[in-house]
Amino acid sequence: MSRILIAEDELRISSFIEKGLAAAGFATVTVFSGLDALNHALTGGFDLLVLDIGLPGIDGYEVLRRLQAERSTLPVIVLTARDSAEDTLTSLQGGANDYMAKPFRFDELLARIRLRLADAVRVAPALLAVDGLELDLRTRRATVGDRQVDLSAREFALAEEFLRNPEQVLSREQLLSRVWGYDFDPGSNIVDVYVGYLRAKFGAARIETVRGMGYRLR
Ligand code: CA
Repeated sequence: MSRILIAEDELRISSFIEKGLAAAGFATVTVFSGLDALNHALTGGFDLLVLDIGLPGIDGYEVLRRLQAERSTLPVIVLTARDSAEDTLTSLQGGANDYMAKPFRFDELLARIRLRLADAVRVAPALLAVDGLELDLRTRRATVGDRQVDLSAREFALAEEFLRNPEQVLSREQLLSRVWGYDFDPGSNIVDVYVGYLRAKFGAARIETVRGMGYRLR
């Protein structure tokens, strides 16, 4: 089941989208601010983001900019007022993104969402594999050798970050911002805790500590 993140602070609109998507067989999570949208989008637990431009806190444009800065590949459909559609168009980069001018009919939005999801399946690698360690990005399953390993959404997102950057040292700060988003205290030891969880599941030697620098997948 595809998971759609909805970022829309106007309750009337967000619940309209939520109900329609649920009826069409999607799982949804709704957030009401830009920062929540960003943090949820960066967890890696969603297949598509429906993003309103006018959000409290950081607006939709800023959310898009920060997602791009994090090299997020999450497809985004932006909701915008009809008279600012031109601005929106110029802020959208990359083929994964699209926009809808308000007001829109639900079936138009649904068609766009299905199109974007089909594109994403075609272009995204389905499998990340490094030396017997595999992550299936579609089914969200992990295997070590021929053993299947259960990972939480956050563990999966962290493992994905390591498998996308094998043999590279990733600092705590990089992992924290890519996997947890911006609202975590940089002094938090949550990265170390989750690296511990992954070592327990993948084998301790898989993730090396590089003293004073961070972690590296071997
Ligand atoms: Ca709004």
